[in-house]
Amino acid sequence: MAELKVKLGSDSYDIHIGTNWISELANQFTQMKFSSNALIISDSNVAPLYSNKIAAVLNSVGFSTEHYSIDPGEQSKSATDAMDIYTKAIESKLDRKSPIVALGGGVVGDLAGFIAATYLRGVPFIQIPTTLLAQVDSSVGGKVAINHPLGKNLIGAFYQPELVFIDTLFLDTLPERELYTGLAEVLKYGVISDCDFFDYLRQNSNDILMKRPETIIKIIHRSCQIKADIVSTDERETGLRAILNFGHTIGHAIEAYTNFEKYNHGEAVAIGMHGAALISYHMGLCSAEVVEKICHCITKFHLPLKAAHCPADKILPLLVRDKKVINGKLNWVLIKDLGQVTIVNNVPDAIIAAALNEIT
Ligand code: ADP
Ligand code: ZN
Repeated sequence: MAELKVKLGSDSYDIHIGTNWISELANQFTQMKFSSNALIISDSNVAPLYSNKIAAVLNSVGFSTEHYSIDPGEQSKSATDAMDIYTKAIESKLDRKSPIVALGGGVVGDLAGFIAATYLRGVPFIQIPTTLLAQVDSSVGGKVAINHPLGKNLIGAFYQPELVFIDTLFLDTLPERELYTGLAEVLKYGVISDCDFFDYLRQNSNDILMKRPETIIKIIHRSCQIKADIVSTDERETGLRAILNFGHTIGHAIEAYTNFEKYNHGEAVAIGMHGAALISYHMGLCSAEVVEKICHCITKFHLPLKAAHCPADKILPLLVRDKKVINGKLNWVLIKDLGQVTIVNNVPDAIIAAALNEIT
């Protein structure tokens, strides 16, 4: 097992990573000063697989457990679902110290975190992420949200969990495509801040794809550590945290153009990383070899390099709709070398257009 601390002053918390160790949750829960009724929020794919196992562990140390299961998918991050969960929480008499447990992927984590942040002005929140994407990304950083009919994640808060508990065993039941989408974010961490980690991913891609527990623990641990370091320095996203957006400017535009249907998040980010790498190269910031190495890894992880049927002239206007635009200027996270990025806000339109043409 591995452990790391996310340092955020009084909001600091631990991330625990292990394999086949759900029973360890008993220790964790007894150490915290929680009320003894917990609410486990999950979705209808994950609940039948793991909900009873988690409940049994919590029951064994004196917790009663209530369950709420949402339909899988982004459409459940809604105000209607949130209201139903508040009702469940009130009817179950959850108090200020009752833990809300998110058992699922990023959708469940965002929604359950939003409930935990707002119910009774905030109750303890425990993250048990079951997708690789949630384990390496959304469960760290404290962003919780629901969607508004006019846009994703528009209603939300920064709210830190008391504990993030990761069991790599959950990945055994995860569809392959969901594993690959998580690997896109893992690769991103290597590119933005650790060239040794990037090399490790390149050299161990087969073990990673075979989900060898030691390898998976290592990549989750390093990814969380990189994200935690960045988030601790910049909790509210004013500066450094922007580098986490690498590959996301184009990625978000591709997701939006294809109505969040054709590509999942990691696939869109993989295409976006390819685009950002090409822009970096055309700006004279990095070598062709760097671009080539990134493309090789993206392909190794069964992720796409190009978005077919997404015309560059349709993607271009969508870029400026990105949330990260400040004063109408696009801030590009570009590569200087593997493990080293820089933010550039004066990329000529012609270079952006050329890169878009290469990836669509
Ligand atoms: P993400 O974590 O990628 O943001 P979701 O929360 O939408 O996304 O989860 C992706 C899909 O994988 C959902 O259909 C969810 O029900 C399913 N899922 C999550 N974890 C597991 C798991 N461990 N085993 C099987 N399916 C899972
Ligand atoms: Zn992302």
